[in-house]
Amino acid sequence: MDVDTGLNEQAIVNQKEDILIVDDTPENLRLLSSFLVKEGYNVRKALTGQMALTAMDTVLPDLILLDIMMPAMDGYQVCEKLKSNPKTTEIPVIFLSALNDAFDKVKAFAVGGADYITKPFQFEEVLARVRIQLSLKTAKLQNKKLNAELEARVKERTYQLQVVIEELKREIQERKLLQTKLLNMALHDSLTGLPNRAFFMERLVELLKVAQENTDYQFAVLFLDCDRFKVINDSLGHLVGDELLIALTHRLKSILSLDNTIARFGGDEFAILLPEIDNINTAIQVADRILKALSFPFQLQRNEVFINASIGVALGNYSYEQAEHILRDADTAMYRAKILGKGQYHVFDPAMHAAAMQALQIENDLRKAIQQEEFLVHYQPIISLITGKITGFEALVRWQHPTKGIIPPGLFIPLAEETGLINSIGKLVLSKACHQIQQWYQDKLTNESICMSVNISARQFAQLDIVEQIDQIVTETQINPENLKLEITESAFINNAQSAKAILQELRQRKIQLSIDDFGTGYSSLSYLHNFPVDTLKVDRSFVSKLDGTSESLGLIPAIKKIAETMKMTVVAEGIETEKQLAQLRELNCEFGQGYFFAKPLPEKDATELLVASPRW
Ligand code: C2E
Ligand code: CA
Ligand code: CA
Repeated sequence: MDVDTGLNEQAIVNQKEDILIVDDTPENLRLLSSFLVKEGYNVRKALTGQMALTAMDTVLPDLILLDIMMPAMDGYQVCEKLKSNPKTTEIPVIFLSALNDAFDKVKAFAVGGADYITKPFQFEEVLARVRIQLSLKTAKLQNKKLNAELEARVKERTYQLQVVIEELKREIQERKLLQTKLLNMALHDSLTGLPNRAFFMERLVELLKVAQENTDYQFAVLFLDCDRFKVINDSLGHLVGDELLIALTHRLKSILSLDNTIARFGGDEFAILLPEIDNINTAIQVADRILKALSFPFQLQRNEVFINASIGVALGNYSYEQAEHILRDADTAMYRAKILGKGQYHVFDPAMHAAAMQALQIENDLRKAIQQEEFLVHYQPIISLITGKITGFEALVRWQHPTKGIIPPGLFIPLAEETGLINSIGKLVLSKACHQIQQWYQDKLTNESICMSVNISARQFAQLDIVEQIDQIVTETQINPENLKLEITESAFINNAQSAKAILQELRQRKIQLSIDDFGTGYSSLSYLHNFPVDTLKVDRSFVSKLDGTSESLGLIPAIKKIAETMKMTVVAEGIETEKQLAQLRELNCEFGQGYFFAKPLPEKDATELLVASPRW
């Protein structure tokens, strides 16, 4: 209860209460009145019922003492009238009756009387009954007021509550919006607005579930990776790269149907999900369509850019246990597409997975092999076709695998190139080969000047410190740099002509010789030969193996020999296996030869013996 209500209560108590006495006997009126006035009440008087009702028009009394027996309108009638009027209905009425009157108590209460007093009056009784009625009335009033207050407060509280509820509702709504936004962000790529990997995986899991329940159901995953995207990013900048990715997204969307899920996996990788397809051909058609669409240039704000992509396709069906595996297979197929020449698609077949697993195994083994120095170098002699004597050796690496025995380089060099492990292996071979030739010189096993040829892979050649690495080994082994010849394939120059030229010039200054390996099989853009200081062209074995004694079988060899003569280079013919081939190459004045006809690549000991034996062919 608040202070305000307390004050009101006080007011009610302090106020003089107003009593109306209605009686047709003036004597009674006077008696009662003077007594009640003395008791501190305000008293008004009425001689008839009508007068009493009229008195109601001015001030309402707090209590009415009403005589029953009156002429014209008796007490009952007056009381009924008072009770039927809402204005006066709450005023308590105490009937006054004489003992000899035919007083009907039941009727008195029935018409709304609160109590009755019989005459002659006993003042204590009058006072007691008056007080009771007045305090009852006050209590009622207070009660009513309290109820009203309570009601008002309930209303107020209800209103406040409603406001709070509304606020809460709004907040919940806002939260929901935020949540969907966050969820959206978590499942979408911000650059292209495409679904991301998480979203894609959810969808993939769903489809796999469908397929697992229905063995006829098939779907496909296309894994797309842009070729050369890094070149664009590096040369034109990331903003153009981003612009291209957005344009690519638009193009993909324009050629794919709405029920295909396209997702960006980050970088230049995209995945496409084709639900419910009849067979793999549907997926192949889509891959074809994408590649065709990419054959047109992208018109960006400032640049016109071409971009190709490699696509891996995997068919999803009930046989898969996990969604990730389908994605993995599509990825493997994409990777294969890249190896096969980029700008194409490749469909996954399980053998590829086995091959990929094997590659991974070999990679692990290779890392261990480097730590444990499991590499050997074999040496194959190179013969002067003019003197018929050994003029040098080519160092060829072998992997002495702890369980698989000797593994030829063809089985691990490509992987070593791909993983960068070739750098360590190459350095090791260079070091061993240099040590070997220095040993031969020290042991004075030869009177002639012999040369050691060492293969340097394109990746190895692209290392920033390749010249320092070579310098270090030359210094360490104290070989004469003129006795070292590096064999490099054309691809090492073509990809980075500027720096290749600089490196070759540095090597030339050190008098290290240079040979182009597998000549005739690569780009053979003859123009670069002018620019690079090269000593020797190694005619690839594929040309030599065709030689059968006839002039038609000579193929490109005479032309290569001509080029070499013009450029003042010598020629080494690789892979000589027969007497006939040797004769034909001698006929062409080819300076050097190498091949099984003379000797296979030999272990250190055998090579040393051969050198000592100094055979002549
Ligand atoms: P390559 O540089 O063209 O080496 C010549 C390959 O032809 C060697 O194979 C050699 O054994 C083989 N060969 C030589 N004469 C004949 C012949 O008369 N008939 C036939 N059928 N083959 C002949 P190998 O040793 O298996 O090496 C294969 C390739 O591995 C090499 O081709 C080279 O590209 C690479 N390689 C070998 N050792 C190294 C190395 O230390 N570093 C790098 N980067 N690559 C290496
Ligand atoms: Ca070689
Ligand atoms: Ca070769």
